Amino acid sequence: MQLYSTKNPSTRVSFKEAVFNSMPQDKGLYMPVDIPRLDDLFLTHLDKYTLPEIALHVAQNLIGEDIPADDLKQIIHDAINFLAPVEKLEENVFVLELWHGPSLAFKDFGARFMSRVMSYFLEKGEKQLDVLVATSGDTGGAVALGFLGVPNTRVTILYPKGKVSDIQELQLTTNGQNIRAVEIDGTFDDCQALVKQAFTDKELKEKFRLTSANSINIARLIPQTFYYFNAYAQLLKIGVEKVIFSVPSGNFGNIGAGLLAWKMGLPVEHFIAATNVNDTVPEFLRTGVYQPKPSVATLSNAMDVGDPSNWVRIADLFKGELETLKTQVTGYSYNDEQTLEAIKFIYDNYHYIACPHTAIAWQALRDWQQDNYKRDIAGVFLSTAHPCKFPDVYPESIADKVDVPEQVKDLHKKKKHAVSLGKDFGGFKEYLLKNG
Ligand SMILES: *Cc1c(COP(=O)(O)O)cnc(C)c1O
Repeated sequence: MQLYSTKNPSTRVSFKEAVFNSMPQDKGLYMPVDIPRLDDLFLTHLDKYTLPEIALHVAQNLIGEDIPADDLKQIIHDAINFLAPVEKLEENVFVLELWHGPSLAFKDFGARFMSRVMSYFLEKGEKQLDVLVATSGDTGGAVALGFLGVPNTRVTILYPKGKVSDIQELQLTTNGQNIRAVEIDGTFDDCQALVKQAFTDKELKEKFRLTSANSINIARLIPQTFYYFNAYAQLLKIGVEKVIFSVPSGNFGNIGAGLLAWKMGLPVEHFIAATNVNDTVPEFLRTGVYQPKPSVATLSNAMDVGDPSNWVRIADLFKGELETLKTQVTGYSYNDEQTLEAIKFIYDNYHYIACPHTAIAWQALRDWQQDNYKRDIAGVFLSTAHPCKFPDVYPESIADKVDVPEQVKDLHKKKKHAVSLGKDFGGFKEYLLKNG
């Protein structure tokens, strides 16, 4: 597999280089030179394959020789060891549950695959790999659990102080071993800016072998294509052939992977980019003007992103053809009040408890179907996290009904360990150098 930078299409790096660099020097993002179209036989018989089988076929086509098939198979079996079921809520309304992994959020797909790919590429005797990751809530937990105990790696998680839920914070700060947490007095965008600046800092780069675990890493994007194919496979089994996906979006890695799957031949009729009031992309799709803004805190905190880092990938997939992009993607955005109403509606009508991000995707699907309903098109909204991660969001009548998995109960017995820092780069750099 060869990759180029969105800022400099003539550059070429290997998969291994792209995974460890995370971001090219020119601050673009890596994209595959070849996006292979999967063979029709595979696509029309998707329903015959399991999730790991689908994952292997898709990954092999993208990654090619860089990881031999047997090794790739091992990585996938180890990383994707949980299901992504599609459940029917009503005629043409399905939910794709992506939170059956250990951190209870869809980010387990990306984080677990990436950590195993990195440890696969790390050769004996090499310098310790320092993974820096900014999180708005769920990334940190998934990455921490993905890397926990992986030899020769160390993970530093930056999260915005007071802006993640209690369970999310516990998932970030109670791991110990090779995982350390830093709470930043600022927003997620501040955390992300610190990580980005660290990568361009000469002194830090000399001292540490830095890499990023954020969704800009190509090794996180690839495994997120797997569940789109697998969702389609499940629908094929019940005779559905036309599908649209509604994706709750923050940094736009998830929907970016969906669009990549579509480019690889997955027959998706349409995508919905559903956001909270951090609506930079829906506004862009409406007006044609991309205007990043400071992020605003909402109930769906994992989507509080004012300048989605993966957007350049999507723009690159469409090579700036706004009209084509608009025919394939529609944007919707909702405020907290609408999010709560959606949660209640889903509970009252389907006895289903959606996390706030998921509720936004459902609402967007409903609004799209209201305007574009076709009997033969199934709508699938992506459920990105287990509701128990957001206990403060629900009215009591619903909160009481949320089941709490064992791994969460155990978290409450552990003690938080985090370093507190401001949002200035100088302080963060000093911390890294002093604690090297
Ligand atoms: C990260 C996250 C999102 C947003 O996903 P992106 O790939 O950043 O667009 C949505 N929901 C939940 C629960 C998340 O953790």
